[in-house]
Amino acid sequence: MSLSRSNAIDTILNRMEPDVPTSNDRIASFFGCNTFNDEAMKKYMAEDTYLSVKAIIQSGAKLDRELADKVADAMKSWAMEKGASHYAHWFQPWTGRTAEKHDSFFSLTPGGEIIEEFGGSELAQQEPDGSSFPGGGLRSTFEARGYTAWDPSSPAFILEVGDGKTLCIPTIFVTYSGQALDYKLPLLKSQSYLEEAAVSVCQYFDKAINKVTPTLGWEQEYFLVDEALFNSRPDLVMAGRTLIGRFSPKGQQLDDHYFGSIPERVYAYMRDMETECHKLGIPVRTRHNEVAPGQYELAPMFEEVNVAVDHNQLLMDIMERVAKRHKLCVLMHEKPFAGVNGSGKHNNWSMSTNTGKNLLKPGKVPGKNLQFLTFFVNTIAAVHKYADVLRASVASASNDHRLGANEAPPAIISVFIGETLTQVLDSVEAGKDFSDADVARVKDLLDKIPDLQLDNTDRNRTSPFAFTGNKFEIRMVGSTFNCAAPMTIINTIVGKQLRVFKADVDALVSKGEILDVALLKVIKKYITESKAIRFEGDNYSDEWAKEAEKRGLSNFPNTPEALDAYVSESVEALFTESGVFSKHELHAHHEVLLENYILKLQIEARTLSEMCSSGVLPAAFDYQARLVDNALGMKELGFEKSAFEPQMDIINRLANHIGSLKSLLVKMSEEVANADELGDSRSSALAFSNKVRPIMDEIRTHADDLEFFVDDRDWPFAKYRELLFIK
Ligand code: ADP
Ligand code: MG
Repeated sequence: MSLSRSNAIDTILNRMEPDVPTSNDRIASFFGCNTFNDEAMKKYMAEDTYLSVKAIIQSGAKLDRELADKVADAMKSWAMEKGASHYAHWFQPWTGRTAEKHDSFFSLTPGGEIIEEFGGSELAQQEPDGSSFPGGGLRSTFEARGYTAWDPSSPAFILEVGDGKTLCIPTIFVTYSGQALDYKLPLLKSQSYLEEAAVSVCQYFDKAINKVTPTLGWEQEYFLVDEALFNSRPDLVMAGRTLIGRFSPKGQQLDDHYFGSIPERVYAYMRDMETECHKLGIPVRTRHNEVAPGQYELAPMFEEVNVAVDHNQLLMDIMERVAKRHKLCVLMHEKPFAGVNGSGKHNNWSMSTNTGKNLLKPGKVPGKNLQFLTFFVNTIAAVHKYADVLRASVASASNDHRLGANEAPPAIISVFIGETLTQVLDSVEAGKDFSDADVARVKDLLDKIPDLQLDNTDRNRTSPFAFTGNKFEIRMVGSTFNCAAPMTIINTIVGKQLRVFKADVDALVSKGEILDVALLKVIKKYITESKAIRFEGDNYSDEWAKEAEKRGLSNFPNTPEALDAYVSESVEALFTESGVFSKHELHAHHEVLLENYILKLQIEARTLSEMCSSGVLPAAFDYQARLVDNALGMKELGFEKSAFEPQMDIINRLANHIGSLKSLLVKMSEEVANADELGDSRSSALAFSNKVRPIMDEIRTHADDLEFFVDDRDWPFAKYRELLFIK
């Protein structure tokens, strides 16, 4: 039996403060102490080993066996000195979270001698089997094994769970023939694809640039609820969101939670969680209350994209684990509560060079901002051409509740750049022949951007893809997502766009055009071509949906349709050409995402059905029976009918809701069965979206009305006011 609501509230009222150690040590004194970082490598490796490993991390080259042995040895000594007993390849399968299989360092020789073993081969590769991870048909049953292989670009770390310590090695997860089964391999490939193109374009401006790295700074939103209340809600336990629950009279309308003072218990949790993050080298920096009651946000310093992705994955794990110590539960779901804001994960993205320059930051050096303009306009052009696949990368059953729900960006992708840059682009577009004077005029204008931007703090909070001064902020990403999904897409589409740009500029130069003129001519052309994607107005308005349609922009509010983009012809061509996904991998990934959608809705429908049948209806029946007894008793005592009219009225209302609820439950289970029977995943997912979801919504309205009428003492599930306001 799940914890009853009244027991949950008793538990909270009688609970002792959890005893959680806090530390006031300076962050710098322990930051990264559980990562095999540069300092640890220097300490535990011979100098030549250290230098070779660094070179490999820089170049992305393969590690030979001899070097792998040396690295493994150093890592083992470091980890064992820190008290680790096991090691694990840590990876990011298509489940969206992380996975690890622990092996002990401890081993026995055939002679029975105890040894502690961890060599280059254990470091480099493992066969976790993992045939139960989603593969979308990439693995046939006779070759179901998956393999993990070390990704030296992300540092190994020690995961502490209770007293146990495990050396975790970030890895990619592939099939026997090397096809990706995870988020990490495509991400790494997209990164090199972008880097190569970006470096070659940078050569127009600065010969010293020989490396470009995409950067990511995420912002993570989440809710916290008391553990006891969480456990009284089968829907939170099973589906991560409330499937029923009447809106509480007070929600977020007073805006009194946003940036308000952080409740003490939550503050203790945040500090504890941040300490764990810092030990693992995750540079979290900011924390605050979000708009909805019980909602919070944290953000780190940005990092190289692959490391930032690992850190966000690790963070989600840490958040949940630390919450347990505080008798709290983290709700990472995009929409845990109807009627209050959901949670997203903004992905701030840019590119930085080996010379320390952020390619999306307009600089103050006169005449040097053509480089900024180039990367800025090419990003917009890429989003214009490939908006659909970017949309697909943030599609999921849970994010469908958020996108387009007037609290988060719509499902229509557009780009916001602000007034200053709009003027700059308009002005470049107005350039005709780019004579010497015209080029000088544009350069002069570009030089003024940093100063103009200082005065122009206007930021459109409703835009799904906004330029925020020195980076683009992708706001459609769901709070549960692996950031790698949208990051892989943005890297790839910009990588492709920069190649097209390079070819276009080179073609003009080879015809004798001066470089600056060629650059501006091509940029001008892209500004014109990609205009439809730019929108500065209110993305939440109905007018925008109409306007977007006129402009020919896509609008896919539902996941099954949004996902089609992954297997469209142009996207297949893009990914096979770039090598980021093979056609086979794309289709497998598409299949996994559809299956995931179906599974999520199946779980939700079953949970809803169970909660109604064994919780809502019995509570309604009990209360109804009491009212019937009451009315009958009054009648027997000789009261006029009008005296028990109020009871009769409620009995009637209950009967109506009970009747509707019951028949909707039958209808839902029929629709679920129909959807399950459809052969292909896309049709099945569509049936869940178009047929099952609307019935779930209808069921909810009846259940929520019953919650209003039924005696508060009888209601089995924690109510919204309790979930959102008991801290
Ligand atoms: P805001 O004013 O929106 O709070 P911040 O500058 O604090 O903006 O940044 C918000 C997020 O953007 C943080 O996670 C930060 O690390 C990240 N960020 C800042 N600069 C970059 C960059 N060049 N590349 C990627 N992310 C960045
Ligand atoms: Mg933000």
